[in-house]
Amino acid sequence: MSESKPLLRSLVPAAFAGVSAAAGQPRYRGDQLRHWVHGRGALAWDAMTNLPRAWRDDLAAAWDLAALEPEARQVSADGTRKFLFRLRDGHHVESVIIPMAHHATFCVSSQVGCAMACRFCATARGGLVRDLEPGEIIEQIQRLEADLVAVPMPGHGERSFNVVFMGMGEPLDAWDPLAAALAIMTDPDGLGMSKRRIQISTSGPREGLARLLAAAPGVGLTLSLGGADDESRRRLMPVPGRTPVAEAVDLAERYGRAAGRRVTVAWVLIEGRTDGLQQARTLARLLAGRPFKVNLIPMNPLHDDDLDRPARERTLAFQQVLTDAGVAAFIRESGGRDIDAACGQLRRRRTGA
Ligand code: SAH
Repeated sequence: MSESKPLLRSLVPAAFAGVSAAAGQPRYRGDQLRHWVHGRGALAWDAMTNLPRAWRDDLAAAWDLAALEPEARQVSADGTRKFLFRLRDGHHVESVIIPMAHHATFCVSSQVGCAMACRFCATARGGLVRDLEPGEIIEQIQRLEADLVAVPMPGHGERSFNVVFMGMGEPLDAWDPLAAALAIMTDPDGLGMSKRRIQISTSGPREGLARLLAAAPGVGLTLSLGGADDESRRRLMPVPGRTPVAEAVDLAERYGRAAGRRVTVAWVLIEGRTDGLQQARTLARLLAGRPFKVNLIPMNPLHDDDLDRPARERTLAFQQVLTDAGVAAFIRESGGRDIDAACGQLRRRRTGA
């Protein structure tokens, strides 16, 4: 609550030298501290056995070490694990571990709530509360990794994981904490992750895409479209829809070319809204011959309105139009539907929002 101290885990790698210097400690002490917090995911000061006890006490008086209180852990029939974390200010976020063919994927949140107001998404219902701090993003990953180590997923690459920013929030709307989290994740002495194992998913607001293009972090990009023409996209995604589809796709393509990676377009299939063959043809024309692939995600219904997924044949017909135009398209069922851990469903049961 209000007595919370600054979060040590939120510091970017370069800032730890300042922490040791301010305490009159030699530089290597700052490196040791960073190793505990970012590299080892330490959640208790007591764990930092190679640091002088007196300095640990001073640090504990000045900084918070943990920011997330695990409140619930649910396991789906398909092996997907969903975590509910309570933040220091009493708000909540969710994170998910999804078993993939050769690894686990960690789906993490970047904000409490979201300002994008997408009609098909549960997170949008309550609006935006705040951005997460870098340390709150990193701690989600570290707690998920600890869970994976404690309870491995046999046949899914044991301890190896990818991170996708597809949980609650619009990551490009939380640019500063996202950029800091990426720096910590890719720091060899931090989480030591390869850029190839990180994916940012965005609804594609112009300012965010422009910033991403300028910063060129080299991680993977997914652009969530939900409409191939401006009018239909704006109906379902009012805030991202302010950026014309053509412009969002152009910016994403430029980013992908600079990063040397194909960009994924995520398309939520909603019966009667985004599943029409005319939409499929418009989408195909937009993407044909360009470095994109399409993930078709049948909507996970929220049961508080009339939006639902189309019948299987409609989904296959939509996919066929894209394939015929030479656009690679895959149907993606999100895991954990039985525990409301699937795309767009996070936070439902708890808030009733
Ligand atoms: N704000 C970012 C990341 C969070 S949403 C983004 O928009 O990409 C992650 C993905 O879940 C997006 O592709 C979004 O379109 C999809 N999604 C949201 N609600 C959904 C729902 N009810 N069913 C299926 N997919 C959904």
